[in-house]
Amino acid sequence: MSINIAIDGPAGAGKSTMAKAVAKELGYIYVDTGALYRAVGLSALRAGIDPSDSDAVTAALGLMRVELKFKDGEQRVFLNREDVSESIRTPEASMAASAVSAIPSVRKFLFQLQKDIAAAHDCVMDGRDIGTVVLPGAQVKIFLTASPEERARRRFNELKAKGIAADYESVLAEMKQRDYNDANRDIAPLKPAEDAVFIDSTGLNIEQSVEKIISVVKEKLL
Ligand code: C5P
Repeated sequence: MSINIAIDGPAGAGKSTMAKAVAKELGYIYVDTGALYRAVGLSALRAGIDPSDSDAVTAALGLMRVELKFKDGEQRVFLNREDVSESIRTPEASMAASAVSAIPSVRKFLFQLQKDIAAAHDCVMDGRDIGTVVLPGAQVKIFLTASPEERARRRFNELKAKGIAADYESVLAEMKQRDYNDANRDIAPLKPAEDAVFIDSTGLNIEQSVEKIISVVKEKLL
């Protein structure tokens, strides 16, 4: 049986950075499930569909092929065979992902894909509902948080480093809006699994956060 580590938490808590580092240290693959919702959101935007229009998005799913591939331990996401790993990182794609992720048919569409990867590989999977819905049997569950301001600062720096134009105030506003959407949707709202271990990364650097997660993993797996 494969070993699965679920890391959930709000946008910008550092999930992907930490999950990647933890996966590397353990020799597991890292699965970023947000990329799947982003690919669906991007697809809707490209088709001129309002990402919050449940009927239109649901109808479009039939023509959408979303796949994850792993090259040299790096996840790439494909939309109808096109590698969209970079195109899904814009603020527009973030908002579209947040909107489509509230649509039940979208969650259903992506559910089995996530299950299959976790069944086939030892992995660290990050998202919003991994410990609660996708992998309720995961051996380790972490709920990673940080203050909204710290999360917005990190996301802002990330965008800047990638040369994507943004300003801090709108990143913070968008972060709060996404937090609200993710926590208040009817289906799979962002909430910690009962058996999740909480880690607050506010004021911790990457090494310190990774160290904390690794120590939880060791405690749970040994
Ligand atoms: O993690 P990331 O910011 O890439 O996720 C984009 C959006 O996808 C989130 O705002 C959230 O609405 C949605 N998402 C989700 N369930 C997941 C992962 C992401 O609903 N497991």
